[in-house]
Amino acid sequence: MPGQFIDQLKSSFRGELIQPNDAAYEFARKVYNGMIDKHPRLIARCVDVADVIAAVRFGVDSGMLTAIRGGGHNGGGLGTCDDGLVIDLSRMKGIRVNPADKTVRVEAGCVWGDVDHATHAFGMATPCGFISTTGVSGLTLGGGIGYLTRKYGLTIDNLLSVDMVLADGRFVIASNKENADLFWAVRGGGGNFGVVTSFEFRLQPVNMVQFGPTFWPLEESTTILSAYRDFIKTAPEDVSGFFAFLVIPPAPMFPEHLHLKKVCGIVWCCTASAEQTEEALKPIRSLGHPLLHQVGPAPFPVVQSLFDGLFVPGLQWYWRADNFTDLNEEAIAQHAKHGSAIPTMLSTMHLYPVNGAAQRVGKNDTAYSFREALFAEVIVGVDPDPANADKITKWCKDYWEALHPFSAGGAYLNFMMEEGQERVQAAYRDNYQRLSAIKKKYDPGNFFCVNQNIRPAE
Ligand SMILES: Cc1cc2nc3c(=O)[nH]c(=O)nc-3n(C[C@H](O)[C@H](O)[C@H](O)COP(=O)(O)OP(=O)(O)OC[C@H]3O[C@@H](n4cnc5c(N)ncnc54)[C@H](O)[C@@H]3O)c2cc1C
Repeated sequence: MPGQFIDQLKSSFRGELIQPNDAAYEFARKVYNGMIDKHPRLIARCVDVADVIAAVRFGVDSGMLTAIRGGGHNGGGLGTCDDGLVIDLSRMKGIRVNPADKTVRVEAGCVWGDVDHATHAFGMATPCGFISTTGVSGLTLGGGIGYLTRKYGLTIDNLLSVDMVLADGRFVIASNKENADLFWAVRGGGGNFGVVTSFEFRLQPVNMVQFGPTFWPLEESTTILSAYRDFIKTAPEDVSGFFAFLVIPPAPMFPEHLHLKKVCGIVWCCTASAEQTEEALKPIRSLGHPLLHQVGPAPFPVVQSLFDGLFVPGLQWYWRADNFTDLNEEAIAQHAKHGSAIPTMLSTMHLYPVNGAAQRVGKNDTAYSFREALFAEVIVGVDPDPANADKITKWCKDYWEALHPFSAGGAYLNFMMEEGQERVQAAYRDNYQRLSAIKKKYDPGNFFCVNQNIRPAE
């Protein structure tokens, strides 16, 4: 560690600086995915924007590889690096709801549970994901797919402005009015353009939702998936639900005879009333021989945190993903084949509907490009035991390869591991060139490179 740089940083830094010999290091270096085992040289845990500016300047001056960490949930472990600097934002937790404007300002170290808690008190929410422990930062900068996507769009469709620190240490605000090119780029372009220190979101009137699953036997998956595909194309936007292959966890909320059973199912989350939801779901819930249909009212933050206890930090995760504009019968047959072969209790395949409000934004209106997609598919191999890492990885890859020929050609970047430049470009399609030009303007030296990297234009 170049001594003069670290002394300089210490003099202008209020947070913690954690190095390999410190007691806090082992815990601080860990990210959510237990498959990622990286050893940074310095973790700079910032408490405010001034700390972020100091840390970015330190990273540039010392020439160290620099990673930005929001919630640390990234599948490929892009919130950390070996031998470099991690700018850790996890202590920046401020949230301010403005109920009159229906907006919320969120600091970059928040996870979605923090935001749900703060906004639910006002009967509002901003569209986020399916689990409350995911970082606001990484999820938003990649796009943000969740229960409210069909009704209120992606998370970025509700983003009003960001505060940012650029590679040259400058602080800027980006919105439709200021630095509009940068604002376009951060809505899907990930951490490529600078460190976002806070986000301003529009809030939506979401309080209680109708939530719960319908499960069917695996043998009925072809019929159910075909019906779900057709249903979700035209379902009212108040009705949402993702299709899954899963193993029912041995949790008290499920009848014991279903525990550890492999099934297919739809996890519903509807913003309609209980009566309207039941009416809307009738055609699909009466198909085949449902094993369980358990949909009822729940506060949105409860729904958001329901899977937290199942997917705890430190598990082994391997991810594969793609976007789909439709699913033909052959693709559905491949789903039935590979979905039935789930290798471990926590492994799963989800098809998230991304139509409705998310499709009303043009594909060149934000960096996130797959606006015509009907589904974002994600296949995740998950298990606590590192000895099963190969098994879950192989299942994921085989499943993905069988479905990829039917896909729209690219994935949602937040559901990818590190898969190379070709896959990054496939995710951005004709937005890549514009992103690359904006990258050159704001980060010509590619200082922010620990991410799904957009290269500065030549
Ligand atoms: C269990 C689980 C559930 C998930 N569910 C969903 C879901 O429902 N919907 C969805 O859309 N995604 C979901 N994801 C994917 C998630 O969006 C990505 O993993 C995302 O990268 C996580 O953000 P983070 O801040 O926690 O990640 P981190 O690992 O901290 O960072 C991820 C990337 O973002 C960059 N970054 C982080 N913070 C900043 C910042 N403040 N400024 C600039 N760059 C930054 C980093 O450089 C890195 O490249 C889920 C992931 C997990 C593990």
